Amino acid sequence: MTGKTETKEFQAEVKKLLDIVIHSLYTEKEIFLRELISNSADAMEKFRHQKLMEEEVFDADASLEINISANDQEHTLTITDSGIGMTRDELEHNLGTIAHSGSKTFLTELDQAQQKEVNLIGQFGVGFYSAFMVAKRVRVQSRSYQVDAEGYEWSSDGTGSFTLNPESGLHRGTKVIIELNDDAFDYAKEETIKRIIKQYSNFVSFPIKVGGETVNTVQALWTKGKDDIKAEEYNEFYKFIANAFDEPMSYFHFSADAPLAIKSLLFVPEDNIELMGFGRMEPGVSLYCQKVLIEQHSKNILPEWLRFLKGVVDSEDLPLNISRQALQDNALVAKLKKIITSRFLKFLKDQAKNEVEQYEKFWKTFGIFLKEGATMDYTHRDDLAKLLRFESSKSEEGKLISLDDYIGRMREGQDDIYYINGPTRHAIETGPYSEVFKRRDVEIIYTMEPIDDFVFSHLHEYEGKKLVSADRADLKLPEKTGEDTEEKEAAETGKLDEPIAQTLTKWMKDVLGENVKEVAISNRLVDSPAMIVNPDGFFTSSMERVMRATNVEHKIAGKNLEINTGHPLIKGLADMRVADEEFAKTIVKQIYDNAMIQAGLMIEPRDMVERSYQILERAVQKKSE
Ligand code: ADP
Repeated sequence: MTGKTETKEFQAEVKKLLDIVIHSLYTEKEIFLRELISNSADAMEKFRHQKLMEEEVFDADASLEINISANDQEHTLTITDSGIGMTRDELEHNLGTIAHSGSKTFLTELDQAQQKEVNLIGQFGVGFYSAFMVAKRVRVQSRSYQVDAEGYEWSSDGTGSFTLNPESGLHRGTKVIIELNDDAFDYAKEETIKRIIKQYSNFVSFPIKVGGETVNTVQALWTKGKDDIKAEEYNEFYKFIANAFDEPMSYFHFSADAPLAIKSLLFVPEDNIELMGFGRMEPGVSLYCQKVLIEQHSKNILPEWLRFLKGVVDSEDLPLNISRQALQDNALVAKLKKIITSRFLKFLKDQAKNEVEQYEKFWKTFGIFLKEGATMDYTHRDDLAKLLRFESSKSEEGKLISLDDYIGRMREGQDDIYYINGPTRHAIETGPYSEVFKRRDVEIIYTMEPIDDFVFSHLHEYEGKKLVSADRADLKLPEKTGEDTEEKEAAETGKLDEPIAQTLTKWMKDVLGENVKEVAISNRLVDSPAMIVNPDGFFTSSMERVMRATNVEHKIAGKNLEINTGHPLIKGLADMRVADEEFAKTIVKQIYDNAMIQAGLMIEPRDMVERSYQILERAVQKKSE
């Protein structure tokens, strides 16, 4: 060493900070390396910039890279960069006072917390000073890029003071030498260092070498221009960050400068592993700030229903030192989340318009997530509703329509959008609920997933039109055209006389008792003798099924039974009530159970099966008499 040693006191705030850092029990100490590497990367970025403006710089040819050497014998870790470096005064100022915003916020928060909250370190990070979580002593040797500057060494054990010494023979840049604490010797092992780099600093733009070998080999693809990236590179990158073997179904590469600086690259995988029964997916998008990892597989950057996406969101507007807890209620993160979600939905909307087949493929695999979003995420509900797809009475089998398609085809006088749930297209089309729609030529959406009715009752309406389940009791279908009227008159002629029908319904209600709320004369049934309808708009039959699936105790709400008084079975029943009331009661119960089955609501089959044998027995006797 040459020259005299100067000893300087740390600024009071730094002392306070160091005291906390040194005595902290913070568990994720390894983040110190991320902080030092990003300081080095910053310094090299600054140098690159400075070089363009200077006539002459010191060590102009030194290659821009970070070298890390771990000495397991001496328990030291050394991080060397060829960045902008620091002069003596800069060393004193930058590493002796609180310079950056992360540490400032840390201290303000600490004042408010009034205690040495170890978590605060994780929340705000403490930049360079975090080295003292693992160090007995830290030495920083630095040589500024300025031609006439001198090299200096800064050294401290993190207690009250630091020393400054001139140091000759230094290259341009900064070397941070960490003498490790006894309990931190693990950081003098190359494998440990490599693992930490891969986790936090993998995409840093400068080579990071450990023992001469470059550890970060993958480029931060999201920061490159779309035109400079080949399809092959996207696929490779996806495999890398998603830890996947397949190729992505599609990707969305997007960047913006305002209102926030965002660079993001999102991938839709080929398969939906939740559908394959692998359980709930964890979020797959990580949050970066200028290529340095802030939160892996972030729960904060996208809504839960986008958990199937893989990729990266990078925003330089985020403070690097922000941590998980702080991310949760950070306004900036909330803003990012909203922007990226909207942009991704816009991407899907364009795809649905311009690449119909591609979108249908996406919908079939991941549509369930959009449905989840439509029920939970008020912010994006309208955009999500536009992306929903269903089969309908006007679509071919297996072909899908949107709610906009439906609205475009609505009949004159039709105010509502109709849907009906059923297990298959065939079951719906042959069931009682679609009869009247067929007759009146009104389109009806087929919802074939249990979640669908849930989605529709949450959406409630679309473009000002109510979404109405076709098994509602108070269905109001558009006025009939001339043709319908004729048909209706024809049907009317074969019906039971009104007084007889009234007596019959009253008696049926008595027979069925508490099972039904009401037995009513239907004006919509054509071929079926009876059907269950729901007096309550929320408790559609499908909703009842969902609720029963999640809670066996769930009691099915009282339903209405509508009967078709033109149907031979009902007409025959009216006669039988007089001739053989006991057997007529059996028939009524069976009609009710059949209607419940068609509504998908049958629960206890034993009585029903026994009763149907009784009826069959009678039928056989009749034949053989
Ligand atoms: P931050 O990086 O958030 O500003 P730090 O406490 O980590 O805060 O560092 C304080 C300052 O020290 C930095 O702003 C920078 O000017 C300087 N510095 C730290 N590390 C280096 C380095 N490797 N090369 C050059 N300057 C550095």
